[in-house]
Amino acid sequence: MQYAFHFNVERCAQCFACEVACKSAHNSRPRVQEEPGTCGPRFRQVVELKSEDSATPVQYVSMACMHCGDAACMAVCPARAIYRDPQFGAVLVDHSKCLGCRYCSWACEFGAPQFDRDGLMTKCDMCIDRLRKGFAPACVESCCGGAITIGPVETARNAVREHAAKRIATASRLL
Ligand code: SF4
Ligand code: SF4
Ligand code: SF4
Repeated sequence: MQYAFHFNVERCAQCFACEVACKSAHNSRPRVQEEPGTCGPRFRQVVELKSEDSATPVQYVSMACMHCGDAACMAVCPARAIYRDPQFGAVLVDHSKCLGCRYCSWACEFGAPQFDRDGLMTKCDMCIDRLRKGFAPACVESCCGGAITIGPVETARNAVREHAAKRIATASRLL
């Protein structure tokens, strides 16, 4: 089974609750005294997209590790510290094997691998402990607009197709 996130941009209320819930669930709160001006690892990040001619954000997108089917981070890791969970397909890190070499962060196109004070790789773990207990990931549960969902990758693909078809139909009515 491969699980995947689906993000519906039209449902995002830009409240950043997903980011806060993620940090709280993983105890990666800001360490203001040790690292002034930083907020530590952000496994999920609400990214502001701006147009070329304006400083005002035109869209917000909530992003985390994609748990890629063909994960570049896993392919380059010399210590084989990155592996796939057989039940949900989450791409996970075995910290006891990680060397802190950062190859994974150079290979990942999405900036998902991040390094904490211990110098070892951390990233979104799909809230695997919660999934195994039958609960949704913290970011999914906290999203008031229902913009972030998770489920089998085929379900996510169908949601993307359905959403695209609706947008095309709306756009053609406006022409
Ligand atoms: S860390 Fe990057 S390459 Fe690895 S699974 Fe996540 S998004 Fe894909
Ligand atoms: S930093 Fe750790 S997880 Fe990343 S490539 Fe190096 S050994 Fe592997
Ligand atoms: S699944 Fe868990 S670790 Fe991943 S972004 Fe959501 S809250 Fe953070």
